[in-house]
Amino acid sequence: MPELPEVELVKRDLEKIVGFEIIDYELSDYVLNGHKGNKRTIVKQSLQEFSRVQYSTIYSLGRRGKYMYFSLRKEQSDFNLVAHLGMSGAFFIVNNLDEITEKNFKKHWQVIFRLSNGQILVYSDIRRFGEMRIVDSIEGFKPIAEMAPEYTEPSARAHFINTLKSGRYNESFIKPIIMDARILPGVGNIYASEALYISHILPTKRVKNISRERLSNLFDAIVEVFELSLSYGGSTISDYRSVTGGSGEMQNKFKVYGLKTCPEGHELKTKVMSGRNTYYCTKCQR
Ligand SMILES: [Zn+2]
Repeated sequence: MPELPEVELVKRDLEKIVGFEIIDYELSDYVLNGHKGNKRTIVKQSLQEFSRVQYSTIYSLGRRGKYMYFSLRKEQSDFNLVAHLGMSGAFFIVNNLDEITEKNFKKHWQVIFRLSNGQILVYSDIRRFGEMRIVDSIEGFKPIAEMAPEYTEPSARAHFINTLKSGRYNESFIKPIIMDARILPGVGNIYASEALYISHILPTKRVKNISRERLSNLFDAIVEVFELSLSYGGSTISDYRSVTGGSGEMQNKFKVYGLKTCPEGHELKTKVMSGRNTYYCTKCQR
């Protein structure tokens, strides 16, 4: 599942389409049939509402947590197309579908936007957990309205520590709680395990038993993992692909995720927490 660095890299790759108009779009049978059955597959609003996207011009791209958004303008009105890649979403900018070399991504295209430069922007999603919607304002979109500051914001560390220390999360295990965007946006399952290892904190530790100082170290570790991942082009775990179809190298830098031993040579433990595989070392983490 793409986490903050992967979404940020997709956003950066897509910046080359800024300035183009979306002259038309096409929805897959999965999306159309889902909507006929009142299941809002991918497009999380009525297809009528979504149709505003046609004839709009992309004037900038943004990201908040794991959401990315295209700021659009049409006849003096501004609105946004917000996208979440879900478990396996990917964007491609190509001349035609055949240029998508990975068979599964080509087969599982869900939305095709035809751009004024003759190219198409394709959203592919094999498992269809991704989301797309038109919203008037980014700040008015609930998941973003409730989101903690981005890790790059000066207030992010204090927000992270103070929210965790507010008392509300005392009994929570630390690992699932740092994946909550209201604490810090963009941490997913892989980087949660990595950051907890780097900061020597057990994923099963309850929030109330972790000092402010250790939470501050954890914040630093998350930033370190995000920045490292950005510099290595993100992680390629099964489904993540960049817009160019390329893959990142961060998976080769993992200290614990998916591994048998930690960098110190200790045997790693795995545990399913909130339905997600968690990797940790009982010698390095406490
Ligand atoms: Zn260890």
